[in-house]
Amino acid sequence: MHNIVLIKGDGIGPEITESVLKILEAAKIEINWIPASAGMEAYESSGNPLPDETVALIDKHKIALKGPLTTPVGSGFRSVNVALRQRFHLFCNMRPARTLPGVPSRFGNVDLITFRENTQGMYIGQERYVEGDQNRAESIAVITREASERIIRSAFEYARKYRRRKVTLVHKANILKYTTGLFLQVGQDIAKDYPDITFNDMIVDNTAMQMVMRPETFDIIVTTNLFGDILSDLASGLVGGLGVTGSANTGDKHAIFEAVHGSAPDIAGKGMANPTALLLSALMMLEHIGELDSAQQIRKALYRTLPDKEVITADLGGEGSTSKFTNAVVSQLKKIT
Ligand code: NAD
Repeated sequence: MHNIVLIKGDGIGPEITESVLKILEAAKIEINWIPASAGMEAYESSGNPLPDETVALIDKHKIALKGPLTTPVGSGFRSVNVALRQRFHLFCNMRPARTLPGVPSRFGNVDLITFRENTQGMYIGQERYVEGDQNRAESIAVITREASERIIRSAFEYARKYRRRKVTLVHKANILKYTTGLFLQVGQDIAKDYPDITFNDMIVDNTAMQMVMRPETFDIIVTTNLFGDILSDLASGLVGGLGVTGSANTGDKHAIFEAVHGSAPDIAGKGMANPTALLLSALMMLEHIGELDSAQQIRKALYRTLPDKEVITADLGGEGSTSKFTNAVVSQLKKIT
């Protein structure tokens, strides 16, 4: 029995979570879900968007599945997603982008995974006006050998475990010689420990172009925080957008799996939410806890469901609903198992 913390999230969060739970239950995986609250819902009931109990539960059980959380714009509390990453040192953000059957996209044959360093680079919050002059601002990026080693090794270890062929390190070492230059140097050193995996490096602007022109040539991409943020969204765009992309944030001890889209307040409560992204995140979670066969069976059931326009949701060009979609995946699963 696996103990997993469940944060349903805001907006469409409860609807897509219910869908994913139903599918995982149909796959007969023994999971003891431990409910915890965060985001707007927690803020309204307790005044704290990330209650101490929630932090304690994740700390204890190590793994969480999380629906999207609403972050107020301008005022209010800071992003809970960022707070969770910092609190649990979730240094690795992993986001697969894989062509899905029946999902409209401009490209076929895409199967790449972005490993983004989640804690450093331009995103450390070191910004200021120069001598108080609001017409001059500066921002500091930090790269350390230790953090670079962690993320680059994670990418290589994943490649080896899942028999991927190539790791591409993305940088801008021609201009940012100290920071991304260090990242590149660490990558070149680590690559020597993995002679079984092809390694190459690529400058970020060229990478963006190559990803759009020849996405099938990429396998695993490992990069710094800002570049990873942008390129992982680009990769999602290659396969149909954020509604069909799962993600994992992992550290040495903890892991949080979440959809990359937001809480979609415009469609919340209308039965229109597409559960695919959270389901794909849950499949990454199943692989993480060693439930590989179940993950594969659910993926197969999902792939058989996606081309069926009568059941899939409007964002994928379908005429169905969250519940029709869910029931169809469950009935495909029953045929497989
Ligand atoms: P959003 O992703 O919530 O919505 C953008 C558009 O995509 C909307 O039209 C929405 O209806 C649609 N959409 C998103 N997910 C969908 C799904 N599963 N099925 C069908 N349609 C879907 O982005 P936003 O509107 O910019 O943000 C809304 C809130 O979500 C904000 O408070 C933001 O801070 C938060 N947010 C949270 C996360 C997270 O928790 N990981 C990520 C991004 C945004």
